[in-house]
Amino acid sequence: MINKWILGKEFRFEAAHQLPHHDGKCARLHGHSWRGVVYVSGTALTQSGPKSGMVMDYADIKTFLKPLLNDYLDHHFLNKTTGLENPTSEELAQWIFERLEQSGLSGLLAVRIDETCTSTCMYTRTPEADFQLITASNAIVMG
Ligand SMILES: [Zn+2]
Repeated sequence: MINKWILGKEFRFEAAHQLPHHDGKCARLHGHSWRGVVYVSGTALTQSGPKSGMVMDYADIKTFLKPLLNDYLDHHFLNKTTGLENPTSEELAQWIFERLEQSGLSGLLAVRIDETCTSTCMYTRTPEADFQLITASNAIVMG
């Protein structure tokens, strides 16, 4: 048996996007109040010091998110800042995951993007069993 913890850190941003290939109103330039969650997992807790009892400090996850929010996401036009020609929730979740991965966030498990209150998307590279854990943790995050 292994111990495993999954942390979720929520983030929010306001941004515009446009889906040029869409056959409905999403083809028009429009904006959303986006909500995201970064999931990080770990199998050990820090044993001493200020991070004692933690897989990772939530504040450290926020530190990784901050430059993405400032420079690419919050109050930006996502088609332009991300370089994604068609920034759907799916494309955006993968883009954020890859940026966090490149910046060295350890234990990165998944990135969730909610484009609206009723639409959610999750990007992960983990096997199905781990994914079920993330899905279960969503109930708590959604509260
Ligand atoms: Zn949209």
